[in-house]
Amino acid sequence: MDKIILTGDRPTGRLHVGHYVGSLRRRVELQNSGEYKKVYIMIADAQALTDNIENPEKVRQNIIEVALDYLSCGLDPAKTTLLIQSQIPELCELTFYYMDLVTVSRLQRNPTVKNEIQMRNFEASIPVGFFTYPISQAADITAFKATTVPVGDDQLPMIEQTKEIVHKFNTVYAPVLVDPQALLPENEACMRLPGIDGRAKMSKSLGNCIYLADTADEVRKKIMSMYTDPQHLQVSDPGHLEGNTVFTYLDAFCRTEHFGRYLPEYADLDELKAHYRRGGLGDVKVKKFLNNIVQEELEPIRERRKMFERDIPAIFEILKKGSEAAREAAAQTLSEVKSAMRINYFEDAELIREQAAKYEEGQG
Ligand code: ATP
Ligand code: MG
Repeated sequence: MDKIILTGDRPTGRLHVGHYVGSLRRRVELQNSGEYKKVYIMIADAQALTDNIENPEKVRQNIIEVALDYLSCGLDPAKTTLLIQSQIPELCELTFYYMDLVTVSRLQRNPTVKNEIQMRNFEASIPVGFFTYPISQAADITAFKATTVPVGDDQLPMIEQTKEIVHKFNTVYAPVLVDPQALLPENEACMRLPGIDGRAKMSKSLGNCIYLADTADEVRKKIMSMYTDPQHLQVSDPGHLEGNTVFTYLDAFCRTEHFGRYLPEYADLDELKAHYRRGGLGDVKVKKFLNNIVQEELEPIRERRKMFERDIPAIFEILKKGSEAAREAAAQTLSEVKSAMRINYFEDAELIREQAAKYEEGQG
């Protein structure tokens, strides 16, 4: 079977380094690996509206921001189809049919949705669209027959839900939908990068982000203000690594070669960690090291972004072309789905003959 990728992001803000280590960096590698017949990357504007209905302009303004972040990270429209979710009406149609295959209590059990409902104080008034977004996500994934979905670990319950819909559909109707697999980041720190405030997840909605488009100075200030170990008051005190954001970021960004360049007195991250635990290593020194590494990684991205910012109409054109190509693929799947459901009445010559025969008998 051909390997196909689908993944995406909500245009609720610029993309941050959590997206980068959790998904973006990997997408570029996968795109360039030549192993995938198709790579679809979606700007999920319709999904973003489900919890931003008071502020649709935010979603509208951030389409271009997300697209710029994609291109500056190295997603290449010659290899990857970049699309905007709302421009593919077939996705709504698929969602509508999949809704019959899922129960309310199953949606209520989805841990990510539960958590997000809490975060947004939606308890008493959950928009129906928000509550059902895992179903619409199943439509996105299956519309493109995706085999592989590179995401952070907060998305695992969505993939699980999608698999259930696929199995149910294929059992009730006919095996036309493809069972997708999540592709998680290689290391734990990347699965859910914490915010600079030490909160469990860096997230656009929590305002605790280092953005890919931040200036070098903004990045440095954010890193220097990062949450570390509150008990590590004196340099000589022993330090803790658990919940220490600076070390989590080092796990996500640091490679052994960085020591040669920026901190030659240590051989590798294990040595640095051991010294911190023993005591005698100050937070400032570790933060400066992290800053050097992050700047090295972000600098080329920032430079490419400046270049792409010079021709915004060209980027909308890329998104338009991508959305058109994506629409063709989704329409093909929808047609197969409708045939499997036998709601393709006008193409079903047998049905028309059968019904006609029924009435002919009645008349005879
Ligand atoms: P929002 O707050 O609007 O939900 P978000 O920051 O959570 O925004 P999404 O667009 O929901 O971003 O997520 C896009 C992708 O990035 C998903 O695959 C998600 O798993 C991944 N991702 C988001 N935040 C992180 C993070 N902190 N660490 C690792 N991966 C992340
Ligand atoms: Mg999210």
